[in-house]
Amino acid sequence: MGIKARTRVREALLSKEFGTEITVKGWVRTRRGNKKIAFISLNDGSTIKNIQIVADVPQFGEEFLKKITTGACISVTGELKESMGKGQNVEILAGNLELYGPADPLKYPLQKKGHTLEFLREIAHLRPRTNTFGAVLRIRHALAYAIHKFFNDKGFLYLHTPIITGADAEGAGEMFRVTTLDISNPPRTNGNRIDYREDFFGRETNLTVSGQLEAELGALALSDVYTFGPTFRAENSNTPRHLAEFWMIEPEMAFYDIEDNMDLAEEFLKYLLVRLLDECREDLEFLTEMYDRDLIERIKHVAENDFIRITYNEAIDILSTSGKEFEFPVHWGADLQSEHERYLVENHFGKPVIITGYPRDIKAFYMKQNDDGKTVRAMDVLFPKIGEIIGGSQREEDLEKLEKRIQELNIPKEELWWYLDTRRFGTAPHSGFGLGFERLMLFVTGMGNIRDVIPFPRTPKNAEF
Ligand code: ATP
Ligand code: MN
Repeated sequence: MGIKARTRVREALLSKEFGTEITVKGWVRTRRGNKKIAFISLNDGSTIKNIQIVADVPQFGEEFLKKITTGACISVTGELKESMGKGQNVEILAGNLELYGPADPLKYPLQKKGHTLEFLREIAHLRPRTNTFGAVLRIRHALAYAIHKFFNDKGFLYLHTPIITGADAEGAGEMFRVTTLDISNPPRTNGNRIDYREDFFGRETNLTVSGQLEAELGALALSDVYTFGPTFRAENSNTPRHLAEFWMIEPEMAFYDIEDNMDLAEEFLKYLLVRLLDECREDLEFLTEMYDRDLIERIKHVAENDFIRITYNEAIDILSTSGKEFEFPVHWGADLQSEHERYLVENHFGKPVIITGYPRDIKAFYMKQNDDGKTVRAMDVLFPKIGEIIGGSQREEDLEKLEKRIQELNIPKEELWWYLDTRRFGTAPHSGFGLGFERLMLFVTGMGNIRDVIPFPRTPKNAEF
């Protein structure tokens, strides 16, 4: 018993120690055979591949083997053998079989292969047992690990920014309120407004939409930091690219200008893609075959080619002379919609594009203002199939300019006193960006819907499990 005695299926499949006894544990994918011999295909999530278990029917008894159906969990001890079967090198000749948990074939929802992704979303509690979600979740893990490795190797510190926040100034999206007040009978002020002074934190609090403002505090003390945590947006946008709860990676660097920021973003994305091609080959091959014929080629193409860098002005020129009819009209001052972004990336350049110099009116207050008085040092990284995958900027480090902008936008300055203190004391040029983890996951898995790249998606009207 115990984990020591167990070999992961991934390891067992690579082993050449034929003749030795091993134990594997996992969930049955299929069982077939005849009166003499049963073949059980077993998976434990460590690899996309199953291991074949060969069981002698008279030895274990027909009655017992009948209970080993799709979805059942078993432990198998037996001899590792070279396999004669097609498509596999090894198999296990079962010496001992233990049934941990049966799965009634009449009720188990994953009895058959080939369920739609829509159906699997309804059984999100069981879908990690499918090949598709096994692959997606292994890739998700590998990416998360690679992200930490990239920054660690560069000397960045992982800064844990708060999930509950009292700052509503960022304006990145609608927020979820956090409260312990009795919502059917909240305390009221004299003016009959809800009195948040009585609330748990003595003020209004929400779930964070971004860790950036706090990451800036970190960068202006520790030089290079990054966050990697959940962010929340109560935007009611039922799109295949938006979640209400998603994960964001936000590096923030002192002494970086916008060029350095772009260089880092490009290096970072390419590093992740190269590692993934190397480490998750089998899962990528599976997804390529099942969902997106061009997936691996597309990942390689992005990993191996320089990103295009243009200004917002140039982007507007290209789009307005493209001759293409867009749903949202293109004109200077308008934000780029994903149809515009994808046109630039997929049709015009055929490569990822970084756009800088956006009109200041469509970007956040903290972005560094250019001397033209109209644009800011923003940068969006646009990817094929996805559109915006990264949003970032050089930050305004000048206290006066920042205060002026805050005033113009009617942001309550008192609430940002702590943020402004960094510009008051030892301010420095600095930059950063935010990468939506699930947007990157969409790109590397070929999945079309963001609900299928996170284990438990949170979207409007959906938070059961
Ligand atoms: P979009 O215009 O696509 O809604 P945004 O401009 O609101 O994005 P930012 O506030 O710049 O996005 O957030 C940084 C990154 O977080 C984006 O580039 C994107 O990758 C990701 N992101 C933003 N909103 C969501 C969401 N609702 N679900 C998943 N990822 C998101
Ligand atoms: Mn948004």
